[in-house]
Amino acid sequence: MADLDELALPAPGQTPRRILTIAGSDSGGSAGLQADMRAFAMLGVHGCAAVTAVTVQNSLGVKAFHEIPVDVVAGQISAVASDIGIEAAKTGMLASTAIIETIVATWRAERLDGAVPLVVDPVCASNVGEPLLHPSALDAMRDALIPLATLVTPNLDEVRLLVGIDVVDDETQHDAARALHALGPRWALVKGGHLRNSPVSSDLLFDGADFYRFAAARVDTRHDHGAGDTLAAAIAAALAHGHTVPEAVSFAKVWVTECIRAAYPIGRGHGPVNGMARLSATKGDR
Ligand code: PLP
Repeated sequence: MADLDELALPAPGQTPRRILTIAGSDSGGSAGLQADMRAFAMLGVHGCAAVTAVTVQNSLGVKAFHEIPVDVVAGQISAVASDIGIEAAKTGMLASTAIIETIVATWRAERLDGAVPLVVDPVCASNVGEPLLHPSALDAMRDALIPLATLVTPNLDEVRLLVGIDVVDDETQHDAARALHALGPRWALVKGGHLRNSPVSSDLLFDGADFYRFAAARVDTRHDHGAGDTLAAAIAAALAHGHTVPEAVSFAKVWVTECIRAAYPIGRGHGPVNGMARLSATKGDR
């Protein structure tokens, strides 16, 4: 498994790996691109951000969001690709069909398709259910963006919306992985964290031929805001460092579990997972 030590910051003055998140801003600093940038910094990669939407948000919820004009979304991606360079990318909150179609067109125009690993976290709603993607944009997510993905990382609510499968056990999780893979990504990861009746949080990875399981003890906390972002960001960071998809998922699962264990309260509602957690603190019990 990839270890945090291997993902350490490069020497002073040496250019680190560069990674791009295409995501929404969370004013409360718990999820969205703020969580991504924290994970990138912790994992020794230089994070760039193409902002898709600005949410008005705190620990109590998402009050509103403002979509960034599509030419500005495209411009941010091109500005980074044409100068800084991208060694891996990740998408989060994308809000609308127009933004998704713009990202797909820009990704192709910049010749990133097939050249740069892309992790698609198909964010549809906040962790307490407020919509972050217009329901009409699901088709573009499913038919245009996911086929470009190296890896798609839906939770069980997103699985239901994308492929209409209710994951309730091992068999239906396998069915969902097959159905998601059939949409066209290289790999599909069906996250089991929302299967509340299970004592473990068990994710299933599929590449069209083999299944891989990644399980961790369930951590009972209400402070889980940003868990999905942190997992996908950590996977993308490990891919930028040159790891394979199973290695990256294995590393990110351990990392996010530690972040959830170290989650902290903030405000009066749901606090964030602790994206500043250090794996070394728990190395002994792995
Ligand atoms: N992106 C933004 C901007 C958000 O506000 C949220 C949740 O509120 C997410 C992504 C997804 O968050 P999580 O990682 O908790 O699923």
